[in-house]
Amino acid sequence: MPAELELGLERRIGKRSAAVIEKHLGITTVGELLNYFPRRYLSRGELTPISEVPLDEEVTLIARVISNSTRAMRARRGSLTDVVISDDAGTGSARAGGGLPGTLKVSFFNGFRAKAELQPGRRAMFSGKVTRYGGSLGLTNPDFLLLDEDPDTPGMDPEKLAAMPIPVYPATAKLTSWSIQKVISTLLDTVELESVGDPLPAEIAAREKFLPVADAYRLIHAPQTPADFQRARDRFRYQEALVLQSALARRRAQLAAEEATARRPAPDGLLPAFDRQLPFTLTAGQAAVGKTLAAELAQDSPMNRLLQGEVGSGKTIVALRAMLQVVDAGGQAALLAPTEVLAAQHYESIRRTLGPLSRDGLLGGFGPDAVQVTLLTGSMPTAARKQAMLDAASGTAGIVIGTHALLSDSVSFYDLGLIVVDEQHRFGVEQRDALRAKASKPPHLLVMTATPIPRTVAMTVFGDLETSVLDELPAGRAPISTHVVGLAEHPGWASRIWSRSREEIDAGHQVYVVCPKIGTDDDGDFTPGEAEPSAADLEDDNGARELASVTGVVDHLRDEPALAGVPVAPLHGRQDPVLKSGTMASFTANETKLLVSTTVIEVGVDVHNATLMVILDADRFGISQLHQLRGRVGRGGLPGTCLLVTSLEPGHPSRRRLDAVAATTDGFELSQEDLKLRREGDILGASQSGGRSTLKLLRVLEHEDIIARARQDAQRIVAADPTLAAQPRLAAAIDEYLNPEKEAFLERG
Ligand code: ADP
Ligand code: MG
Repeated sequence: MPAELELGLERRIGKRSAAVIEKHLGITTVGELLNYFPRRYLSRGELTPISEVPLDEEVTLIARVISNSTRAMRARRGSLTDVVISDDAGTGSARAGGGLPGTLKVSFFNGFRAKAELQPGRRAMFSGKVTRYGGSLGLTNPDFLLLDEDPDTPGMDPEKLAAMPIPVYPATAKLTSWSIQKVISTLLDTVELESVGDPLPAEIAAREKFLPVADAYRLIHAPQTPADFQRARDRFRYQEALVLQSALARRRAQLAAEEATARRPAPDGLLPAFDRQLPFTLTAGQAAVGKTLAAELAQDSPMNRLLQGEVGSGKTIVALRAMLQVVDAGGQAALLAPTEVLAAQHYESIRRTLGPLSRDGLLGGFGPDAVQVTLLTGSMPTAARKQAMLDAASGTAGIVIGTHALLSDSVSFYDLGLIVVDEQHRFGVEQRDALRAKASKPPHLLVMTATPIPRTVAMTVFGDLETSVLDELPAGRAPISTHVVGLAEHPGWASRIWSRSREEIDAGHQVYVVCPKIGTDDDGDFTPGEAEPSAADLEDDNGARELASVTGVVDHLRDEPALAGVPVAPLHGRQDPVLKSGTMASFTANETKLLVSTTVIEVGVDVHNATLMVILDADRFGISQLHQLRGRVGRGGLPGTCLLVTSLEPGHPSRRRLDAVAATTDGFELSQEDLKLRREGDILGASQSGGRSTLKLLRVLEHEDIIARARQDAQRIVAADPTLAAQPRLAAAIDEYLNPEKEAFLERG
């Protein structure tokens, strides 16, 4: 049966309208248009606060006309009509020219209709892009609709009319929100809503007292009162959460049903030997998570687990212990790191931590029971890389540590049993999957995040993984104090930073200096996928300010009296790998006292003697990046200090991030704050936000309880009915919801 929702639009709204909708919105079916929900609602009786209207986006707003004047244009033929509109929040005086709070200057070229209709006192809805000229806000050639003569509502009780919400649809420059509304109102008259099935299982709809699906469609598009659209939204929001969580639960069930090789602990293997030689006791969290992992690895279905933890909570040891269990059972483990520096660091520190339990590919020499740990990165000399590849393929290497070079086609494994992905935010799902494909049977998978992420984000973005959390730091971790150093208010502090560094070095400690750029004339060294400053942040000082760069700062420090005689070294991603690892070794050995680098040191780098971190132009970094960066100090029982240096004026929006980071060292709190300052699309990552929005009504931060409830429902439904055979409409909604691109996203996950 050609279900109502799958019908071509022309069948319900006619060829003409269907063509317009397809052209501007790319929508072709009844279902897609019905699910094109208003983004928000304006209240007919209220004006839109102009100060809250976003710049440079298609917006729809209601305002009152306060003046209207027309003049001939000087340079060319035609006239210019200037209309000043207001939200009545300002002074209310009709001073033309704009610039008053709560006013907006609207310009029309040859605007004959505007000249005639937009008379002072009229209320109208405008649609267009608000831009800023000099000090005042403006709108050029917008579409408008006079509200008081809205032909759709003849003879309605004025009070009721004033309360009636006006749906605002995501509009385009060519198709206004009210044109979309008109088409949808035709659709609502012609569509057979009663034949639209409900994807929600009946018992859930009853439990939640949701509107029937047909009513919900009517009320979300044509509400009479705010309560109407609230109720409709409640149902669709939950529906959205359930469909998404069911997709993820189905995916989890599919993964769990795959057959993996069980890697059981060996009583006289490397892992027990390693535990006996550990110089510290595991935290309670490490022990508990370790137990979970050990049990899951020992099963013949694949582990798929996300390990979240605070910066410095000791995730690496947890992962290493899991890798040893797999090696003890005869398998291999791969550790995937986001940068060469981090891969090399992991290699060094894992070798060091394992001590005589490990050997490398070249030296051998230890007992035959030792595990061979192999580094494999793209920049290694050819001979060494070939040897490493050979060792991975032959099974000689028990633990292989590398960057994305591990993903290349020429790399294969003898028996890959466990994949550990460190600092996941740098890796796309495609990469995780490429590695997965290198095992003949599905390997066990452990993904580790760099900083904690809120529970609901984990449930949404990593919803196909089970989650473990390490929420305590090992004992003896010294506190880090963080200060914002505002050079705009205190220019003198610029030199104070270097004498402060000198004090630290004289006390026998070391210093990190982090810069947003490598050289004085490049575009920075941001690593993709991180919380980069938004385009708006970058625009507002027009690039006029020269940002601190690694080479620039190193040059400057040569002549800095406070640091005379101090060994300083630069480190950044564009250096030769041999130079890079030489620099890291010299810093680790406490020969280099002050390291000037980009964010290459952001993740994982572990030098216990470093106590001071200076982040220059710190406003250029995102919250989680700053949190991660400062986690590099305060590691060796010595208190750490982090200076967030900025030239921005106090009160600049980007300084909020710095204040947030200075205010707490709780990573969970910070990631909440971070997400609040970002947009939803950034939270979910590019693959989730592309095209028409993935999440329409659901907001991962706001709707935690809904997501959690839906997850429980989904888990229950899928556990009882893994293929959703008894829930065909839910299954169809999942397929519909996940367009092919998104389906692939989940499949690959
Ligand atoms: P992260 O979770 O940020 O990746 P790491 O795994 O790098 O943290 O651990 C940070 C440091 O803490 C390392 O030097 C590690 O050896 C040390 N460490 C890990 N677990 C413990 C523990 N239980 N007691 C003391 N130190 C620990
Ligand atoms: Mg780490």
